[in-house]
Amino acid sequence: MNIFSEVKEHLTARKTAEYYGLKVRSNGTACCPFHDDKHPSMKIDKNYHCFACGVGGDAVDYVSRMYGLSQYDAALKLIEDFSLPVDTRGNTELGVQEKERIRREKAERERVIHIRKRFEKWCNRTVDILKNCILEIDSVNRFLIGKPPDIIFSEDYAQMLHAEPVINYWLDILCMGETADKQELFIRNRKEVEKLVQRVRSSGKRIMGENRGSA
Ligand SMILES: [Zn+2]
Repeated sequence: MNIFSEVKEHLTARKTAEYYGLKVRSNGTACCPFHDDKHPSMKIDKNYHCFACGVGGDAVDYVSRMYGLSQYDAALKLIEDFSLPVDTRGNTELGVQEKERIRREKAERERVIHIRKRFEKWCNRTVDILKNCILEIDSVNRFLIGKPPDIIFSEDYAQMLHAEPVINYWLDILCMGETADKQELFIRNRKEVEKLVQRVRSSGKRIMGENRGSA
């Protein structure tokens, strides 16, 4: 048995309505409190029904309509106000489950917001890093003008030349691409981007550092 049927076991609409102030005549009629009723249009006993405005229902429904409560809160109000011996613990547990569901949904929303922020931050930072890489490749290009062929054909310089179009491709995506492409890059190629940037940096350093004196 649920709390609604338990409450109804204990209370008629009439007893309930009278408790909350409705004057019921001995013949079981009353002026309807839900519309401007001059002559008693409401018949009330176990249930109530207004023949003028058409409302009707049981004790829980009466309280729900009277106080603007949900059926559930109306039942709880009746249990409280009439000190009914109705066990509401099962329903309290439902309340706990509901709270847990709300907590989980909130956590999930925050997780999504967190990932989105991380993604946006990563995009902005990566654009800066990749632009710096291109500048670095440019300065190595200039540095190598007039340098001997063994430096120009070094593995380090080859790495940088291979990296350049890839970096430009990533920059195109990050600066002008669709969000889905940026997300794809973030999800699948984050590590690859980091590695390539590292390789370009150390190649650049080695070329410029080791050959500073040579002309
Ligand atoms: Zn009415």
